[in-house]
Amino acid sequence: MVKRGMLIVLSGPSGVGKGTVRKALFDAGDTDFQYSISMTTRSPREGERDGIDYFFVSKEQFEDNIQNGKMLEYAKYVYNYYGTPIDYVNATLDSGKDVFLEIEVNGAMQVRANCPDAVFVFLTPPDLGELKHRLVGRGTDDMDIIEKRIKTAVGEIRMMRNYDYAVVNDEVQNAVERIRSIIKSERLRVTRV
Ligand code: 5GP
Repeated sequence: MVKRGMLIVLSGPSGVGKGTVRKALFDAGDTDFQYSISMTTRSPREGERDGIDYFFVSKEQFEDNIQNGKMLEYAKYVYNYYGTPIDYVNATLDSGKDVFLEIEVNGAMQVRANCPDAVFVFLTPPDLGELKHRLVGRGTDDMDIIEKRIKTAVGEIRMMRNYDYAVVNDEVQNAVERIRSIIKSERLRVTRV
């Protein structure tokens, strides 16, 4: 029997750099885990491609998936749905490969409830001023959306205690290295729960 893969969940406030850290981790090319592409109802940003960055779907399609038990977790975040399609995750774990999720905190807590043996990593900003600086610097959202994201972030940072590991994102490469060491150690564990 194939040993089931490990589920790794990277979460933390929006704007903390989860996407950048995840991309740097995968772009390095030496990872042997699979990234689960999320589904969302938000519109694609410039340069984003369907089926690569996200599966972009309508609100109706997303709600159908929820009704039909097709989501491992989902959350409504700043006016849109985001979620993890369950079939890809299960099939990949069953084949013995490790799966990596990059999701916001409410979704991460649903995974925690459903998959207690998953590994939970919380990416944290050095401070909130830095978070605002990054959201503004990114230039992709209007100010009212940025303010809403920061309010959400303050609540999200309080969730850190529910995670197995906290990684400070001071520099992308440092954060990537810290996540790599976590994964290495987790693979050496005798038991996971
Ligand atoms: P963005 O709109 O900036 O791409 O993403 C907004 C937030 O949604 C980020 O915190 C991102 O990590 C989170 N997110 C992306 N995919 C998922 C998902 O599948 N499930 C959940 N719960 N959150 C997600």
